[in-house]
Amino acid sequence: MSDLFSGHIRINDPASKDMGGMKDSLTGLDRYEVFLKKLQRCLDDIGDKKVSVVYTDIRHFKYINDTYGYQVGDALLRDFVKDIMNDNRDLICCSRVYSDNFVAANILPDDITNQQFKDFIELVNNEREVRYREKYLNSRLQFCTGISIVDKNSRSLDAETVVSNANLARKVAKELEEGCCVLFDNSMMEGIKREVEITSQIPKAISNHEFKVYYQPKIETATLELTGAEALVRWQRPDGSFVFPDQFIPFIERSGQIVDVDYYVYREVFQFLSERIAAGKNVVPVSLNVSRVHLTKMEILGYVQKLFAEFPISPDLIEFELTESIYLDNTERALMLVEGLHNMGVKVSMDDFGSGYSSLNLLSRLPIDVIKLDKVFLKDDSLSESDKIVISCMVDMAKQLRIVSLCEGVETMEQSDYLKEIGCQLQQGYYFSKPIPQEQFEQMLDSAEKAAGNTSGN
Ligand code: C2E
Ligand code: CA
Ligand code: CA
Repeated sequence: MSDLFSGHIRINDPASKDMGGMKDSLTGLDRYEVFLKKLQRCLDDIGDKKVSVVYTDIRHFKYINDTYGYQVGDALLRDFVKDIMNDNRDLICCSRVYSDNFVAANILPDDITNQQFKDFIELVNNEREVRYREKYLNSRLQFCTGISIVDKNSRSLDAETVVSNANLARKVAKELEEGCCVLFDNSMMEGIKREVEITSQIPKAISNHEFKVYYQPKIETATLELTGAEALVRWQRPDGSFVFPDQFIPFIERSGQIVDVDYYVYREVFQFLSERIAAGKNVVPVSLNVSRVHLTKMEILGYVQKLFAEFPISPDLIEFELTESIYLDNTERALMLVEGLHNMGVKVSMDDFGSGYSSLNLLSRLPIDVIKLDKVFLKDDSLSESDKIVISCMVDMAKQLRIVSLCEGVETMEQSDYLKEIGCQLQQGYYFSKPIPQEQFEQMLDSAEKAAGNTSGN
């Protein structure tokens, strides 16, 4: 069926000579503008046929460049292009949009459904991943693909819109941990609208003090006493409704606004602690979440320093939580950040440990004070034997590395008792308390102080 387009659309030939700057010099592919023109011509003539646009980027490609140098990175890109050309009999055109982002348009056979095509691309990606990981020694290399399919119902769409839809599906794919291949559907546009709506409201929400800090207690396993808390942000809209972090943090991480929201939360916590100290009341260390976005600017160290200068509180009352994947995304910068925070005398923990990629090998290299075992390990009320083995191994490993272990997401007495049995020092979870507003947390601190007073008076 590619005959339909033969004559006026020529398949790319990477080896062909670039006539007048129409080709990408690295890969020999058509430049993106040329790709769009070819795709548009093809869509104009689509008739009853189906055309797919496949938008792919290579996850962790930067790591290859950083680790092995640009020559190796370039070789990988050329290999990838060679693969696309070899695999595709019905290719209309293919182009490198930029860096490691590629787009390819194909005519689909009549008898293939959209889902079957997606499954096929997923298989191709998986096979490539195995091959490339071996060749380029990067176990995390992954192909992230978004697919947009035009058929007779959507043939009025123009080339740019079809590519942008495929790119949107690719972004959705990128957010999934696994199965990095997603088909575009119109509901994704709703997501975009929501993202624009949320991000446009953030500056006003900050100035209106709509962000509230909630505190979730941390409990010492041996004594079951309150020993600290984690600060977790909540967004309370003017109508009183709440927006939870999962519903807005991914958006404001992309827009970079998380930096301002984090700073807001840090300031609130510093102020809260210093006011209680000034009033002679009981306090416990509070941990603050650090978004991965801080790593790009590294201004966080200066900001924290400023807070310590402004509020007279001891550094041992503050701890920072960096999620496990941050350390893997950019180990050098993460190390710099941890070192900078340690220089100020604050503790640093590795959050969500065990949730994503395995960072076991990093543990011994990183000067981490606490590991927070991810709540996925406690997904069931009663612990299975295999869950128990995994948890106890991690707790043991932490002990040997002299790192404090905390298990989060504790929801039942059985889980809590098991953590005691294996010597996990700290616990956090709904079994003890959900994250609570500041006023309620103050009451908890006051009663803990009273209880301690009573005990010491006895
Ligand atoms: P996280 O840092 O892993 O925080 C723990 C999350 O698990 C919290 O969700 C908490 O409410 C929830 N949780 C605690 N105990 C249990 C339990 O026993 N069972 C279950 N099922 N869940 C439990 P939350 O508050 O919705 O926060 C979600 C994520 O948003 C946090 O995950 C953190 O990554 C991020 N986040 C929250 N506040 C901030 C913030 O101020 N700054 C930044 N950068 N990220 C934040
Ligand atoms: Ca956390
Ligand atoms: Ca966590």
